[in-house]
Amino acid sequence: MSNGSSGRLIILSGPSGAGKSTVVRHLLEECDLPLKLSVSATTRSPREGEQHGEHYFFLSDEDFCRLREGGEFLECKEVFGLGYWYGTLREQVTTGLKAGNWVILEIDVQGALALMDDRTLSPITLFIHPGGMKELEQRLRTRGTEIEEAIRARLETAHNEMQHMHRYQFEVINGSVDLAVDEICRILKDHKEKYPCSKS
Ligand code: 5GP
Repeated sequence: MSNGSSGRLIILSGPSGAGKSTVVRHLLEECDLPLKLSVSATTRSPREGEQHGEHYFFLSDEDFCRLREGGEFLECKEVFGLGYWYGTLREQVTTGLKAGNWVILEIDVQGALALMDDRTLSPITLFIHPGGMKELEQRLRTRGTEIEEAIRARLETAHNEMQHMHRYQFEVINGSVDLAVDEICRILKDHKEKYPCSKS
């Protein structure tokens, strides 16, 4: 995807409960780069406090399917095997890159692997996790947003996702949000210094 600008594509993955959303929120506020979060579409219901168009575009199965068939997604996957679909909207990425933004995709491993194989994108890829499965289970249970069946599905997916960590360029352990944010910001700035022009 040639964008003819200084925009970059960043893929951030990691198991559910790794604290990705919190890290991304802080990153957007604190890292001195033109970062922009791509808002994905999903068929899952909003959690308390989540807003349509800000956290996700919450779509019906029919609307999601229509966009999918219309080729509106850069990638889309059924995540956790519970029947919920998530997808990166092509328009979110192209608009951001054209504007010179560093567009962050916070997506699952299946989606990330699909995009890594696309040579036209050249994303910067980061895998974030809390250190181990025990820490992850603790975080998911403390968060208390999922029923037991969903927690088990997320833990099983997490176990599988950890097996793909080596496919990412950078591994970040989220022991403390501040340290993880500093580390990611430094990685991105190092990248900018090393590759002043966008490769995509
Ligand atoms: P949650 O339901 O907790 O917000 O997100 C569940 C999982 O879906 C997370 O691992 C998140 O990274 C992933 N996800 C969110 N948006 C997308 C997307 O557009 N594409 C893919 N493949 N995964 C996504």
